[in-house]
Amino acid sequence: MLSDQLRECGVVGAGGAGFPTEVKAQSQVEFFIANGAECEPLIHKDAELMKHFPGQILNGMSAMMDAIGAKSGKFGIKTKNAESVHAIKEHMTDKRIEFVMLGDFYPSGDEYELVYTATGRLIPAGGIPLNVGCVVNNVETLYNVQLALEKKPVTEKFVSISGAVKEPKSFWVPVGTPYRDLVALGGGATVSDYVLFVSGIMMGSMTFDADDVVTKTCGGIIVLPRDHYLVSRRNRTQQEMNRIGKSACDQCSYCTEFCPRYLLGYEVQPHKVMRSLGFTTTGAEHWNQWSELCCACGICTLYACPEDLYPKEACDDGKRDRKAAGLKFVQTRPVEVHPMKEYRRIPLSQLRKRLQIDEYERETPYQEVQHKPAAVRIKLKQHAGAPAVATVQEGKKVKKGQVVGQVEAGKLGAHVHASIDGKVRQANTDFIEIVA
Ligand code: SF4
Ligand code: SF4
Repeated sequence: MLSDQLRECGVVGAGGAGFPTEVKAQSQVEFFIANGAECEPLIHKDAELMKHFPGQILNGMSAMMDAIGAKSGKFGIKTKNAESVHAIKEHMTDKRIEFVMLGDFYPSGDEYELVYTATGRLIPAGGIPLNVGCVVNNVETLYNVQLALEKKPVTEKFVSISGAVKEPKSFWVPVGTPYRDLVALGGGATVSDYVLFVSGIMMGSMTFDADDVVTKTCGGIIVLPRDHYLVSRRNRTQQEMNRIGKSACDQCSYCTEFCPRYLLGYEVQPHKVMRSLGFTTTGAEHWNQWSELCCACGICTLYACPEDLYPKEACDDGKRDRKAAGLKFVQTRPVEVHPMKEYRRIPLSQLRKRLQIDEYERETPYQEVQHKPAAVRIKLKQHAGAPAVATVQEGKKVKKGQVVGQVEAGKLGAHVHASIDGKVRQANTDFIEIVA
């Protein structure tokens, strides 16, 4: 069965939280949707993947459709990526599959958005695509599905390096490669003091640690100068964000009016979450339900708010506290698309200007680099569910593709595999380090 092969090969969603693909392969639904939307600013690696590996992606898609009994396959792709569209079209022999052409907007790749665009169906509040008869997979996940059919585990990750580097590009590297190597493969940084955004500026994380490593979900690395506007925006404590919000939020509601979840009809209203700051010292005791269906897209904080406040972070905090308190909000109002939704879409070009990163917008052409890192660190938790447990001891020799961490049978999670030949230098509950 396909799901068994996917489990053996450790296939997880390559474009998000790393949900194990074997679980999706066990469902029975009407629609399968390939997500080639890729809308994080400055990340173009999926466009390169589709351009150079269209056959593998489409084979993976057909295999998933067979497994889940989907009668209809929708391939979400942006019209602006003409070469990728052409490459996919050339290989599209499965008559069940058709394109869903997307504009260059953020966040067109969000699952709720994509399911609505592709099928006209609205996922119930707090639900998943399965609830409306859909399974969605990112295009790199589909590439990995094809590898699993060939019994090849996930040992490599397709990433891009962009931003303040000499030669932005996309390439395969072994899982566990340090970010530092990616910067070097991009010809080095163009600034001496830099910060890394991992998997995107809007929804990714920011790190100063170039020794951290590529996981199965890492979309790409963006290098920005340490004195960039976005770094100072991000580099504040929650207390500072709350204090500024409490004094400066004038309740203009722009954060809500541009919120993509609100515009789709979900009860997310970040301005009301911000309002709670005005009545409490920290806001923490009075977070309200208006944060709960937020998908953390970042639009409110990084695009909509004219005062440069932090409604997204207030929602993050609110969701965390409400979860810890065991509170659950259930939307009772029917989900209905806002009449202004189509007019409030955010073009990537506008978003880049607002983020002050337009100067870094460049293609990241695919290059075969055959990178051989001196050492890799395979994290045991790089997916949704339970962490894997090390199955190798320090000092042991391992071969590329060998299982080095396993998830117990019956538990949600994914096995991890050695991504290079070498010797285990360290094995603990967090990672396996292998030296070449
Ligand atoms: S957009 Fe900014 S100022 Fe306006 S309500 Fe939202 S957080 Fe407050
Ligand atoms: S981050 Fe802001 S804009 Fe995005 S879903 Fe959450 S509340 Fe809405």
